[in-house]
Amino acid sequence: MELLSAPFFLAFSVLRIIFKEIRLAVVGESPGLKSGESVVESEIMMLVRRAIAGAKILLVEDNPVNQEVALFILEDFGLHVDVAENGSLALARLQAAAPGYYDLIFMDMQMPVMDGLTATREIRKNPDFGKLPIVAMTANVTPEDRQGCFQSGMNDFVSKPIFPEELAKVLLRWIPPRAAGDLAWEAT
Ligand SMILES: [Mg+2]
Repeated sequence: MELLSAPFFLAFSVLRIIFKEIRLAVVGESPGLKSGESVVESEIMMLVRRAIAGAKILLVEDNPVNQEVALFILEDFGLHVDVAENGSLALARLQAAAPGYYDLIFMDMQMPVMDGLTATREIRKNPDFGKLPIVAMTANVTPEDRQGCFQSGMNDFVSKPIFPEELAKVLLRWIPPRAAGDLAWEAT
C-alpha cells in the first residue's frame, strides 16, 4: 500500500509543476489559466494561506515519499511542519512541546514501532491533548477502518494519495482562522 514507487513519484513531480503553474496564474504572474475548476481549487488553497498560515502541524508518517508529498503541500500552505517517523516518536515530540503548541496532527496508520491507532489512543490518555485534532492519513477507506479511526480518538481522515485541496479542506475544518493582524500570507 505504501510503496516507494517510481510511477507515483513521477506523478508527484508532475503534480508539483502543475500546482506551481496554477499558483502563478492565480497571483497574476502568468496569463495562462483557463480552467475554472483549477481556480476554485486554488481559491481553497489560498484561503488556507490567508486563514491559518503559521499553524503548527505534526506529521506522523514513516514512508519517505509520503512525507515529502505532505511536507511539500503543507509548507506551501505556509504551515510549520515537524515530522515524526512513527507513533512513539510522535508521542515524544508532543511531550517535549508546550501544551497547545501543535494545532493539528496528521497520522499515518501503518508504521513500525507504534502504529497510528495505538499512538492516537496514547495521545488521548493525556488530558493536555484531549482536543488536539488528529487526522488519519490512510489508504484504508472501508467503513470499518473509518470506525476504527474514530474509536481510537481520531477526528477526521484524508485518503492517500493526498491532494492539496483535500488537505486544505480538512485543515480549514479543524484549525480556527488566525486573527486578521496575525496574517503571514502575502502574494509572492
Ligand atoms: Mg506507513
